[in-house]
This record gives sequence, structure tokens and C-alpha cells, in this order.
Amino acid sequence: MRDLAALPKAHLHLHLEAGMSPALLAELSAKYDREVPVIRGYGSFAAFSDTYVAATDVLREREDWERLADELCGTHVAQGAVYLEPSFWAGNYRHRFASDEQCWELVWDVFDEAAARHGLSVGWMVPVDRVKDSLDDAIALARFAVAHRDHVVSFGLHNDEVGHPPGDFVDAFRIAREGGLLICPHAGELEGGHYVADSIELLGACRIGHGVRCFEVPGLVERLAADGVCLDVCPTSNIMLSVFPSLAEHPLPALLEAGVRCSLNADDPLLFGADLLEEYELVRREMGLDDARLASLARSSVECGGAPDDVKAAALAGIDAWLSADA
Ligand SMILES: [Zn+2]
Repeated sequence: MRDLAALPKAHLHLHLEAGMSPALLAELSAKYDREVPVIRGYGSFAAFSDTYVAATDVLREREDWERLADELCGTHVAQGAVYLEPSFWAGNYRHRFASDEQCWELVWDVFDEAAARHGLSVGWMVPVDRVKDSLDDAIALARFAVAHRDHVVSFGLHNDEVGHPPGDFVDAFRIAREGGLLICPHAGELEGGHYVADSIELLGACRIGHGVRCFEVPGLVERLAADGVCLDVCPTSNIMLSVFPSLAEHPLPALLEAGVRCSLNADDPLLFGADLLEEYELVRREMGLDDARLASLARSSVECGGAPDDVKAAALAGIDAWLSADA
């Protein structure tokens, strides 16, 4: 059996702070004399969201961020990742920084250093929080993201979809799209497949966070396949948030069978328990995906992210070599 840790891959759907290990969370919680947030199955988006915000509370000093950057880059390289595209919403830290920009500068500073040291390529996603950000906030974020293309590669749309449709943020996404960013909103996870269609039509999405409910809209799966729109799929997260009752009922195999490009991702490993490599192992074991399918997941993750061309070329060659080697 081929070693999945040796398969070059990219991680495109990771909410930064939820990439922290339980051990580091415990350590930083002790440092600040704070109770460790309870990590368990959720079933609802609200409970999950509260715990996520609690986890952000232990990132205070530069040293804490350095620990996170070092851990995240190191563990990703160990899992065979060559490229990481985390999303980060600076609004959670407004009480600690004079501006969101100052917060971002710290994050970029510590991650530039850690990524270089570990030999990982990192590009950033600036997301709009569809619940907390107004349209004006979203427009300001889009301008900020476009102005920082030295670090930012993509523009996202996060948080609870219900009651916050893609159409609310058209003007912000136009700025991001015209500024050359990849458009990667969450859609078709907590709301129906029509949010996926709207994200493509109204926002110009080239990738969709989740998108796994696309089967609800007739013809949409065929359209995703024809247009090459990539779904950044996160199976464990979908089960933990009750999007599907079990992995046996998860549509990933059917999506691949229909020719839809999919990347495989962990979303929030701190909260859901599975890291990137474990997601690959899980879909091999529980969904019966063969090595050609697993390689196609890795290939889409590399091709559809914002990695530099030389990183993509080397990774794609590595994926071909992995697949052509004896199993
Ligand atoms: Zn997500």
C-alpha cells in the first residue's frame, strides 16, 4: 500500500487557529490560567463556533503565534503537504491590536519565518465573516487583500450560511476578483446547493468551501465538472456538524465519479480531531477510494490553490511519481 504521507498535497481549507494541536492549546491555556475549551463532537454550528472563539483567546503574545506557526508548518511538512493556504479573520483580535493590519503583519512575520525554516509554501486567504462583517467591512477587506497580494492569494466567505446568502457581498467579491485573487467562499454546507450556484454566478467562485450539497440542485454537479470548479471537501467536519449522518453517506466518491474536482481538507482539526493526513487515510479506508482517486484529490489541491508555479510543478511531478511507483 502506498504511503499517503509521501503523497505531495496542498491544504486549502484550514481555519488558522483550529490548526493548533490539543497539546499546544492545553499548554497556552495553562500559561494564561484559562480553562481548556472542551473539545468533543458538536452537531451544531453554534456550539462549534463558540469553542473556536475560545481557542483564539490563548494567542496573545508574539511567542504564542510563533509556537502555532512552527507547529503548523512542521506538522504539515510531516504529512506530505508542500503548500498551505490557511484562512484567518483578524477581527477576533481587535482588543489586542491597534488595527487588523497590525495583527496580519504579526501573523505574516511569524509564518514567513516558520515556513522558510520548514520548507513549506504558504499563501493566505482573507475571508469575509458573513455574520459579523457588513458589506462595507467586506469591501474594506477586499481592498486590503488585493493590496497585500505579496501574501494573500484568495478571498473567502466564512461563518454560518443560514440567512447570509452570497448575494449580500457581490461588490466586495468583484473587487477581490478584479484584483486577481482566487474566489473561494464557503457554500452548500449548512445551506443548500443553491448557495453553490449563487457563489459561482454572483461571486465568480473558482473554489467552494465544502459545496457538498450541490446534488440538491439539478444540473449543478454537471456544471461544476464542466467548469472545473473545485470543491474543498472536509469529510470529518461534515460528519461532526451533521451535514451527513455517516461517512458511508458522504458524496465525495460520487462527486469524483461525476468528474468534479475536489481537494481534501481538515477544516478545523483542533475541533474535529482529524488532521490532513488522517483525512486521506479516512477516505481510503471508509470510502474505498483507490490510489488513483487519492492522487486526483492531491492533484486538485495543488492545481486549484494559490501556490507559486514552481511549487505546483514540483508537486504535480511528485504526485505522478507517487502513483507510478509500485504499490
Ligand atoms: Zn471551513
